[in-house]
Amino acid sequence: MTATLIDGKAFAASLRQRIATQVATLKEKGITPGLAVVLVGEDPASQVYVRSKGKQTLEVGMNSYEHKLPEDTPEADLLALIDRLNNDPAVNGILVQLPLPRHMDEAAVINAIDPAKDVDGFHILNVGLLATGQKAMVPCTPLGCLMMLRDQLGSLSGKRAVVVGRSNIVGKPMAQLLLRDSATVTIAHSRTADLPDLCRQADILVAAVGRPHFVQGDWVKPGATVIDVGINRTDDGLVGDVDFAAARQIAGAITPVPGGVGPMTIACLLANTLTATARANGLPDPE
Ligand code: NDP
Repeated sequence: MTATLIDGKAFAASLRQRIATQVATLKEKGITPGLAVVLVGEDPASQVYVRSKGKQTLEVGMNSYEHKLPEDTPEADLLALIDRLNNDPAVNGILVQLPLPRHMDEAAVINAIDPAKDVDGFHILNVGLLATGQKAMVPCTPLGCLMMLRDQLGSLSGKRAVVVGRSNIVGKPMAQLLLRDSATVTIAHSRTADLPDLCRQADILVAAVGRPHFVQGDWVKPGATVIDVGINRTDDGLVGDVDFAAARQIAGAITPVPGGVGPMTIACLLANTLTATARANGLPDPE
């Protein structure tokens, strides 16, 4: 039997629909959420992401503010822009597209964003809030993964989860979210011993490695739910971190690449912008 396909594209479309309805309700109160996206330099992949973010922001009825700065912008100028956006009441969410040019200190830039407007959830305060189980801005990619897992499995309590990858933007926050939902979580990385054996124990297997088809079919526990975060550009087009063709023969459910985690990431960015807007206006968090 082949695995159920988790349709991230359809899931994201229905999430955006829900967000659009909530934005319309806010607009009746005279509030229009605004998302500012800052891009420094000419990285082609980043340009594509920023374009789709802007487009989808407008489609749900929010205001989109794009700031494109040249590659050689001094860090002080970027910090000055962030300061202006922090103090602009029309801007509820600020996203600085990563990676930044080498001459910039990524941590210093991210930590200059007002944590209440940090819709990427990378500010050290939001990282700490998430880690201590408090109300935080949650990073978009793992948030999208969590939504799909809950939808697929219902409760995650007591499930064994293995997250392959320990980056600050995917692996670590993913593990925190799974832990918050009472899964038993192991984080694996390049120094992990017996990775295939470890993965075979996972009811939930999340791959965020950045290597095409890295996770083999026989690493998957029969019936497991597999979330493939990887986006790898190869001669065969975009592929994930999981050997999809093999894994889908064994898994219970699996996300495809493309059409799985990717579309959910931008939808969650819009969800975070909506949440930030609600909080800024003293309203309850949107459902
Ligand atoms: P990073 O490069 O920051 O992290 C990769 C992680 O994989 C590291 O923790 C690394 O371990 C681990 N790793 C590398 N090689 C191995 C190995 N041989 N065995 C076990 N672990 C290994 O990547 P990101 O977390 O930023 O991204 C991961 C993937 O997800 C990429 O393909 C990226 O394009 C994609 N992505 C997709 C998004 C989406 O919207 N769908 C959003 C963000 C990322 P170590 O720490 O030991 O080096």
